[in-house]
Amino acid sequence: ESLRSQIRSGLSLSSLVQCVEELVLNSIDAGATQITVHVDISHLLIKVFDNGVGIGKEDMMIIGERYATSKCHSLKDLEDLRSYGYRGEALASLIKICGKVDITSRQRLSPLTYTKSFHSGVAFPLKESLSSLHHKTGTTVALSDIFQSLPVRRKSLSEPVELERIRRSLSAIALIHSSVSFSLHDGSFGNGRLLLQTKGTGGMLSAFSFLFGKEIAQSLREVSRIEAGYTVSGYISTSPHHSKSIQMIYINKRLVCKTRLHSHVNKLLDNSLIAHCKDSAQYNRSQSKTRVGGDMSPKAVYSERFGVYVLNIQCSKTEVDI
Ligand code: ADP
Ligand code: MG
Repeated sequence: ESLRSQIRSGLSLSSLVQCVEELVLNSIDAGATQITVHVDISHLLIKVFDNGVGIGKEDMMIIGERYATSKCHSLKDLEDLRSYGYRGEALASLIKICGKVDITSRQRLSPLTYTKSFHSGVAFPLKESLSSLHHKTGTTVALSDIFQSLPVRRKSLSEPVELERIRRSLSAIALIHSSVSFSLHDGSFGNGRLLLQTKGTGGMLSAFSFLFGKEIAQSLREVSRIEAGYTVSGYISTSPHHSKSIQMIYINKRLVCKTRLHSHVNKLLDNSLIAHCKDSAQYNRSQSKTRVGGDMSPKAVYSERFGVYVLNIQCSKTEVDI
């Protein structure tokens, strides 16, 4: 209990995008290299397939109980933690808000596939069956009848809005996990529209190219900086005139929403570029361009050059609380 009280507790899942995120992050934690997401908003279904390590019988027996986690058992674990989850709350919370949850899993080389189902929060006995060809190694979690007890929330869901939120969130996850192949399908399982796909090879540039287009990807430059206590790495675009503004900052591979950090980064990049090419022809050219445009401030010249960047700040878990 003392450990639990030291871990910030209480997870409330109030949106479909959060549901998808929790499932996908579990798949990443399980070492999956292929993650397939199906969403059917009109029927309130979400299904996530992964090819991760799977769940063994013992864990399957207690899965979905609050604080049932295989990832963190001591404060030392908490400090060393590399995974996203550690509180053992996501599945328990999902089970609470869904009419039905089915978790099917097979570990590598295991002859058995386990299925655990929950109806209105109540667990059914664990089922086991001999693995057949269509039981691949990994885990599938299917949520149905999401927000069953929240009819108002259900009514307020707009399909295109939710799909777009999920697509964006998954793009951010896929970009920083470029060695995982992701796909997102909309509509009925099996033959839905493909909304997003990455290949899981070729690093972040390749993922970027699949998600946001080749043209911008080609203008990206790698940056990295090691400081005492943290490392910043990623890509920035030095090419002007991008119609899109893609500015992503991650801390320990978790996307941070638009914060002051973004304006700090924009400023930093402006300043370093100005310092970098102060005497160069490029700087002079930009300066004269600015005069033509009427805005004299160097900042105005350079901020648009950095419409696109993807940066990850890697630091000790104890330094941040996100
Ligand atoms: P947490 O991620 O904080 O541990 P969750 O409620 O998200 O808690 O998951 C509980 C446990 O269920 C995990 O610790 C893990 O052991 C198991 N689990 C959940 N999803 C998967 C998955 N896709 N593959 C393997 N194990 C999983
Ligand atoms: Mg989790």
